[in-house]
Amino acid sequence: MKAIRVHQFGDSNVMKLEDIPDPTPADAQVLIRTHAVGVNPVDTYIRAGIYGQRDFPFTPGMDAAGVVEFVGKGVHSFKPGDRVYTSGTLSGAYAQLVIAKESQVHPLPANITFEQGAALGVPYATAYYALFFRARALPAEMVLVHGATGGVGVAVVQLARSHGLTVFATGGTDRGRKLAIEQGAHYVLDHRAPDYLQNLMRLTGNRGVDLIIEMLANVNLANDLTVLSPRGRVIVIGSRGKIEIDPRLTMQRDADIRGMTLMNATETQVKAIHAALFAGLENGSLRPIVGQMLPLSSAAQSHDDLMKPGSHGKIVLIP
Ligand code: NAP
Repeated sequence: MKAIRVHQFGDSNVMKLEDIPDPTPADAQVLIRTHAVGVNPVDTYIRAGIYGQRDFPFTPGMDAAGVVEFVGKGVHSFKPGDRVYTSGTLSGAYAQLVIAKESQVHPLPANITFEQGAALGVPYATAYYALFFRARALPAEMVLVHGATGGVGVAVVQLARSHGLTVFATGGTDRGRKLAIEQGAHYVLDHRAPDYLQNLMRLTGNRGVDLIIEMLANVNLANDLTVLSPRGRVIVIGSRGKIEIDPRLTMQRDADIRGMTLMNATETQVKAIHAALFAGLENGSLRPIVGQMLPLSSAAQSHDDLMKPGSHGKIVLIP
């Protein structure tokens, strides 16, 4: 099979398309023929070597969608021919065939394409975990989706809107903000404009928002604390550096700053998340947006494009 292989950490060009032997699933594992592969920021951190050690060579990627080819002994939830998506794999998702633990595989509803399925695993699960397990979001609350135009942000907007929250969404481009409105944001703001947080305060009648789902905390956290309502919560999903904050701003509001990593979700939470996502996909309230499709051989370009500003949904590789 063809797979992207990384033999050393480095820039996107360390990813090479190679012919390697087909993987063989062990007991309790599922072999999937991939039709689409999701590209996530964490894939770029791992490839660059800033996210822990790896044995070389390795195949990057956590998210894929495709059809079950074979199941190992003891797998009861899936059979060959089933349409599925992964949230994590054992062998790496940037490949024509992928091995995953049964618990990493989830059914793909018939109304969702493989390309959309590749946008689910990390982004939608992260969005759900952030909004409902970490933020404990409630209908009628006001949420600022700080970075609403990429893989996770679009998912947060759709989830929040369909659960009865008022959604304020930020994007760095007109195209991105248009996307956020189309996906359910009630209001959009430009996170590159100097006065956008003043506009947010005006829109909330100077009360501030109950929740902030934060994609770039190292840039925004200090300001986030100024636009939180009493007992507000900031959920830190993404951060790419350090930032100085004024703790007094949390004291004045009984505010919480809650970090999160999807990998910390328990087995029970993971099950709940994917069951909820399945229901939302089936009833049409969740609609993954694929902004760009590239062949698997263009994995390097996908990583470069993902890190550029101007997000518009997910970047997906086609094996
Ligand atoms: P993505 O598709 O590349 O999207 C990045 C988002 O950040 C875009 O909406 C982008 O908006 C926005 N952004 C850029 N500058 C910003 C600013 N100054 N303020 C607010 N937002 C800004 O990435 P993703 O997959 O959605 O992931 C988002 C972040 O979450 C990444 O840092 C990723 O590593 C992290 N993440 C963490 C977890 C976890 O478990 N904690 C899981 C998944 C992802 P424009 O392009 O429109 O400017």
